[in-house]
Amino acid sequence: MSDLAHVAAQRGLRHLLFSFSDLFGVQRAKLVPLSAVAELAANGAGFAGFAAWLRLTPADPDVLARPDPTSLMVLPWEPQVGWVATDLEMGGRPLEQAPRRVLQRQLARAEALDLRFRTGVEAEFFLLDPLDGGIADRLDSQTKPCYDQLALMRRFPLIRELIEAMESLGWGPYQADHEDANGQFELNWTFADALITADRHAFFRVMAAALAERHGCAVSFDPKPIAGLTGNGAHLHLSLWRGERNLFHDPNGELGLSTIAYHALGGLLEHAPALCALTNPVPASYRRLGAASTSSGASWSPGWVSYGGNNRTHLVRIPDGQRLELRLADGAANPYLLQAAVLAAVLDGIERQLDPGPRSDRNLHAEPPPPGSARALPASLDEALAAFSADSRLNSALGEEFCSAYRELLARYPGRDG
Ligand SMILES: [Mg+2]
Repeated sequence: MSDLAHVAAQRGLRHLLFSFSDLFGVQRAKLVPLSAVAELAANGAGFAGFAAWLRLTPADPDVLARPDPTSLMVLPWEPQVGWVATDLEMGGRPLEQAPRRVLQRQLARAEALDLRFRTGVEAEFFLLDPLDGGIADRLDSQTKPCYDQLALMRRFPLIRELIEAMESLGWGPYQADHEDANGQFELNWTFADALITADRHAFFRVMAAALAERHGCAVSFDPKPIAGLTGNGAHLHLSLWRGERNLFHDPNGELGLSTIAYHALGGLLEHAPALCALTNPVPASYRRLGAASTSSGASWSPGWVSYGGNNRTHLVRIPDGQRLELRLADGAANPYLLQAAVLAAVLDGIERQLDPGPRSDRNLHAEPPPPGSARALPASLDEALAAFSADSRLNSALGEEFCSAYRELLARYPGRDG
């Protein structure tokens, strides 16, 4: 019996979801009964690759999904079922465009430099009426609804379930709130190594949707579910570590950050327009990015390639001397490609010792940057795709097999779901 089958049996599981995330972030799976887990873990579960967003054809052989036993999670709402992330291969070799593989390649580059990439993600979401797509709670109507205590507590039965689910999974959830749009919420769990965060982010999207359904709600992670309201970000907090030491922290550095942190920041700024193709991958992403304002008074999303201190109007915020917060990505970003693209930009910044230039303390929501001082972010998915295609360093870091597959799918299916 394989390790995975043994552990699954010990934990009382009867079925495992062999799961993977395709290039557009759709979570795909096969349900495997415990009696077949050992065999399918050894040989891989077969998928017709063309049926998912992987840029394969109906003539291609089976994609085989092999589970990573370290990723096993028990569905808190269905305790006889486990979820396990899989790594994809085809024809006896890894499928290089598989998003988890794309992230693993960047993590290997970091590891070769003795660097450990640790991240936390803020997966904002809306709770909508599944029938008409409106805000599920019609009483949730404040003009500035952020931190609305009553609206938060009207959703307590669901929020509590999600928090307790994350506790049972060992994620270390530590806060939940009503966010800046009517019907919008955010639950935070503790940062971790990037692959763990990506697996959790992927699982959270499934879990939030599954639990919300039980409470009569639909979940939306879309970048702009409702015109005029703040959209769903997926802010990424990031730092690089060597063993247990945070290399971003330097008590003598500007705002408590080290030289390596500023080089990482330089990489993020240099590649930001190209990153948008991965962090903001649908047309609606550009109705969030650079939005003039919303009914609450702010869009909370960046429009320019800039950074500030503890200032939420910039692309990158420096909340403290431990980390950077990239405020670019939205809820349509693939959890694995988000981290892979950001790490590729960070490593390029470090390798080339890029200088992020001076910080801006301006309120960019009120006043644009001085002319010529900051590039504008792409205004459309087409512009982002052009920036991505033109960024040869980012393409070669992420791998041509992945980049060509991704560019082609994005150009052919810009308005797809998922
Ligand atoms: Mg938020």
